[in-house]
Amino acid sequence: MIDLSVLRGSSYVVLGLARSGLTTVRALGAAGIDCVAWDDNEAAREQAVAIGATLAEPSRIDWNRFTALVISPGIPNRLPKPHPVAAAARAAGKPLICDVELLARAQPDNRFVAVTGTNGKSTTTALIGHILKTAGATCEVGGNIGRSALDLAPLGPHGIYVLELSSYQLELLQTFRAHVAVWLNITPDHIDRHGDMAGYVEAKKHIFDRQREGDCVVMGVDDEYSRAVFAEVAQDARRNRIGAVPVALDRPIASGISFRAGKLVDADGYLADFASVPTLPGDHNAQNAACAWAACRWLRISREVIMKGLTSYPGLPHRQERVAALGKVTYVNDSKATNADATARALSSYRNIYWIIGGQAKEGGVAPLEPYFDRIKQAFLIGEATELFASQLEGKLPFERCGDLQSALNAAHARAQAEATEPAVVLLSPACASWDQWKSYEHRGDAFREMARALPGADSVGRAA
Ligand code: ADP
Repeated sequence: MIDLSVLRGSSYVVLGLARSGLTTVRALGAAGIDCVAWDDNEAAREQAVAIGATLAEPSRIDWNRFTALVISPGIPNRLPKPHPVAAAARAAGKPLICDVELLARAQPDNRFVAVTGTNGKSTTTALIGHILKTAGATCEVGGNIGRSALDLAPLGPHGIYVLELSSYQLELLQTFRAHVAVWLNITPDHIDRHGDMAGYVEAKKHIFDRQREGDCVVMGVDDEYSRAVFAEVAQDARRNRIGAVPVALDRPIASGISFRAGKLVDADGYLADFASVPTLPGDHNAQNAACAWAACRWLRISREVIMKGLTSYPGLPHRQERVAALGKVTYVNDSKATNADATARALSSYRNIYWIIGGQAKEGGVAPLEPYFDRIKQAFLIGEATELFASQLEGKLPFERCGDLQSALNAAHARAQAEATEPAVVLLSPACASWDQWKSYEHRGDAFREMARALPGADSVGRAA
């Protein structure tokens, strides 16, 4: 846990007592710093009291006594409607911050690599952390992925924090400075919290705040919004001697990184072959890997070590996670794909797919996935969405109603093993929420991994469960 004793003398209201909020209460308490806490949910409040928190009834908070509000990034503070505690803090002129800001204040001598984007944040953050560890660097990885900011270990002056930051967190920073700011992409999302696309872009742009000479911006420029932001940011960067590295797929790019036909070409014309990285399939992962490459080059990691890190990257659970193999068939757990958009990424990464889909359908179902149907041998339907998907697939793709995941896996496995003469995949990429049959997408994915590894003769592959 981060030692917050440098903050002694200040005092905080902590709003939101889920994982990161509880850690904040613990860290402040351990450092002997005055704080009170609140959550609208009674069970969360009880948990906080159990770890020694003092609760503050929102209407009774004397804001004169406090330095700032540490608000959980998931709680609206502006749009669609500010939480009353956030509104009161603003009215009292108190800053709204998040746990990442406290980390930055407590570890002022460290370098921070910050990763944001609409998609690919967790993968890229984990990948950069893995490459740095491969290089023997001291680093901690967390934020929006894994451990929350204050749950990380205190690092000595050479240590690097690699943090996944959401737009919500980026809006709640005051002194945090990214030595390397990685922006992957931006597409419409979270509009309810940011008002409109322009608001979402503005929120994400806070990742560049306070950067100074010697720092670096790494930016995916494959979508129109990111291209516009890069044009703006690159100009500022040049003026302030900040590095600016654009990353593009499928087109050469001046003084940046591009990725063509499985090969990465960096600013000096250096070529790296990514074909051998099974844990990072698909163009979307090429974007993640190329951005990780640029960030690590800025941190002076050699190309050889970066390549070693990329090829040994174990992947993250539930995101196109290879879990087992038998003969020509690989078994892939993509349970995190809870909508058609995410499933499209997985389908575009393979051929000869035995596709397990279903659960609680999202709007549009699987209709948007038709362009990928020529990659699919057969679909195996499960859960509530069965009849909807059956009607959408009728006449376009062979399918079978399987009911539950185990039956679907058994059926897909039997077909794939009987037919595959070329590399094939049994892919759980359900394009659905899991709640009809499972507690969460993690629960569903863990079950799939276990079932696949239990198939007679199957070898476990990929990361340890
Ligand atoms: P995030 O943390 O931003 O949600 P993840 O790394 O967890 O991103 O990936 C979640 C899903 O988003 C993946 O399963 C994949 O479908 C998709 N994805 C990953 N990287 C990208 C990318 N660079 N561009 C578009 N989609 C991506």
